[in-house]
Amino acid sequence: MIGDNIKNKIVAIICLCVVLAFILVSCTENTNNDNSNSTSTISNVVERSTATNTSKILEETTTVEKTTSVPSTENKIKIVPKKSDPNNIYDSSGFVLIDDIIPDVILDVRYATEYNFVGDVINGYEEPLAFLTYEAAEALSKAAKEFREKVYQLKIYDAYRPQVAVEHFVEWSTDLNDTRMKKDFYPNIDKSSLFGAYIAHYSGHSRGCTVDITLFDTKKQKDLDMGGTFDYFGELSHPTYTGVTTSQYNNRMLLRNVMQKYGFRPCSTEWWDFTYTNEPYPNTYFSFPVSKKSITYK
Ligand SMILES: [Zn+2]
Repeated sequence: MIGDNIKNKIVAIICLCVVLAFILVSCTENTNNDNSNSTSTISNVVERSTATNTSKILEETTTVEKTTSVPSTENKIKIVPKKSDPNNIYDSSGFVLIDDIIPDVILDVRYATEYNFVGDVINGYEEPLAFLTYEAAEALSKAAKEFREKVYQLKIYDAYRPQVAVEHFVEWSTDLNDTRMKKDFYPNIDKSSLFGAYIAHYSGHSRGCTVDITLFDTKKQKDLDMGGTFDYFGELSHPTYTGVTTSQYNNRMLLRNVMQKYGFRPCSTEWWDFTYTNEPYPNTYFSFPVSKKSITYK
């Protein structure tokens, strides 16, 4: 009986030691966790696993770093430039999606929505995408880099515009009773005077080197104030219109000066419109759809 008591006491002491040791280890780990950020918390949890999980630790840590890092501005994919056949208006081979060249670009493709001067999705815009010729997109990426350094992101309203979309505009302009969007886009102009002054049978956009853009202020998280809105028909949209505030005028000139520096020609009547002057297809008005199915390089 005495021997059994001693044995029981020894077992009890051993158990107590094990429990104390466990509590001590737990406390140490909790202290580490309290003093660390979310990334190292995940690492610590993983570190409790066996040494054979080292690769898993690296994997999980890497994943956390990826999701918390700033978005990369490197090209998402490697594009080998090709050429379109200038005699085939449906050949999109020489075109790229702008966001494949400029990953942080903001797309607000109005003609793929009902919020435009027509009030309907425009023919040819099957998806809210923005294509340009490879050459124009490359030049635009250089402008985007400079804007980025000034804390602005490019926002695209329109880029390549199929000929079938331009024909939609012309058809709409002949229906003088349809003035659904007058209030926002042409409040001071009679619809009968739009064709000729603002709408024509051909648009430079169909050649794939013209973009409609503005700037997004990444610090203030809003569009830069240009003193006017995209596709407003009127003198207010002339880039050099002096009726806007000095700040609005300066913003227009900032956009204009950087775009000109990288080979784009400003439009005299629309502050948002710029054409890359070294056009690879100066005489072709393309009409392939604005759609993922027009991508030829991936
Ligand atoms: Zn334009």
